[in-house]
Amino acid sequence: MARKPNTESELPSVSWPITSGSTGGSAKLNDNTVFQAELTALHETVIYASPLPNHNTSKIHVDNKASIMASSNSKSTNETARKIFKIILTNPRIKVSWVKVHAGNMGNERADQLAKDATQHGQPCSLTKLPKPHIKGLLRKSIYQEWQTSWKKGDKGRKIYNIMPLVILLPTNWIREDVVFFSQHGPFPAYLKRFHLTDSDYCSCGGIGTALHYATECIYTVSWHMR
Ligand SMILES: [Zn+2]
Repeated sequence: MARKPNTESELPSVSWPITSGSTGGSAKLNDNTVFQAELTALHETVIYASPLPNHNTSKIHVDNKASIMASSNSKSTNETARKIFKIILTNPRIKVSWVKVHAGNMGNERADQLAKDATQHGQPCSLTKLPKPHIKGLLRKSIYQEWQTSWKKGDKGRKIYNIMPLVILLPTNWIREDVVFFSQHGPFPAYLKRFHLTDSDYCSCGGIGTALHYATECIYTVSWHMR
């Protein structure tokens, strides 16, 4: 049984109370998804159940269908799910079945209670190897934030920043005109002067002839101005 954190400072948590007489365990998981928490709980449970005496069938009740599906697939992309699959395959007396949450199943209610408690008082759990896609997601998020911060606080391209304050990772299908405008490389007096192709960077209106000038200020191009 896993638990979503109620606030951002809380972490997803798990608990695995298994047999009568056993209090099971619980932990909160750093940097983890609720799905990974579910799988961790199931993994801990099958590890606990596997050395139990042979004449006992161990029935594990899980209220999360996704973790049952994942751990019954030998080719699951999740490493924890594959480990669960192997243990269940070699221990046919371990049975996993689905139960409805909050349907009066005492063990399930107890698991929920323990998981809830672990969001606040649980010990951090670092046993879990994070799945690759999850790590990629975390890295992407942090690189994105770093990029956004440097774009926001930088001192270059401020005029462009005012038009495009948010950075995006998705490729933008810029047409030729967009590239000319944003790079400011085009048939503008300011550009031509910079590359010593002309003596003056003035527009005939008296302003400095940059791309932004034509797009926002110039009296001769009012009907083309950006709004
Ligand atoms: Zn002008």
